[in-house]
Amino acid sequence: MPELPEVEATRLSFADRIAGAHITSAAQGKPLRWPLGTAPAQLAGRTVRGVRRRGKYLLLDLDAGLLLLHLGMSGSLSFGAHLPPRGPHDHFDLLTSRGTLRLNDPRRFGAVVWAAGPDDPVAHKLLGGLGVEPLGADFDAAAFHAALKARKTAIKQVLLAGDIVVGVGNIYASEALFLAGIRPTLSAARLSRPRAARLHAAIRDVLGRALAAGGTTLRNYSNAVGERGNFQFEAMVYGREGQACRVCATPVKAMRQGQRATFFCPSCQKT
Ligand SMILES: [Zn+2]
Repeated sequence: MPELPEVEATRLSFADRIAGAHITSAAQGKPLRWPLGTAPAQLAGRTVRGVRRRGKYLLLDLDAGLLLLHLGMSGSLSFGAHLPPRGPHDHFDLLTSRGTLRLNDPRRFGAVVWAAGPDDPVAHKLLGGLGVEPLGADFDAAAFHAALKARKTAIKQVLLAGDIVVGVGNIYASEALFLAGIRPTLSAARLSRPRAARLHAAIRDVLGRALAAGGTTLRNYSNAVGERGNFQFEAMVYGREGQACRVCATPVKAMRQGQRATFFCPSCQKT
């Protein structure tokens, strides 16, 4: 599933080239998670001003309105002047003067949604409940600790929920908790201030390194020019059940937490 580093790597791979492009037409395939919210023909004639990211959403700012793109479970974007004809999993094409932006999404949990502006109810619904950006200046260690104090659920579940800090998905939550030496099942409220500060630093470190590696490719993720991520080769615990911990050689354990696989070292992450 694409997480924050994959979405940001995708953004960086096409944002400069699509900025200033004129939209000539748009075409939809099968229904995605949410409807577009306008007729595709209404997008023709608009100009793409730029591409921002908020959480795992990409925001294409147009000269009037914006498009919110989400990659869902299995989505990836391509952008190029000479894309092949649309295949069975290509569910949205935005044709522009600079090339075609295409969403390929076999499982169709992704979406492309039009909003009239940032105050549009649909934009508010999708973006309104998001926590702070983990790589931004607003992600503060003391405020993070204070927010965790109010949660009695397991720290990994709190990270995945995305309402305190966005974009720390399954892979990076496991990795950050390993780096910080915290057991994923520990109640968030029980994290001391120094341990919360270590986790805060670990989240930034893991996401920053994952972005530098172009993200993680477990199955089919690639950015908008077809480059795969390489962070999976750096993972300390994720996907390494039964293999030796890279720090202490204890076998890495796997467990289920809220339908998701969690990986941890029982020795490096005692509590
Ligand atoms: Zn270990």
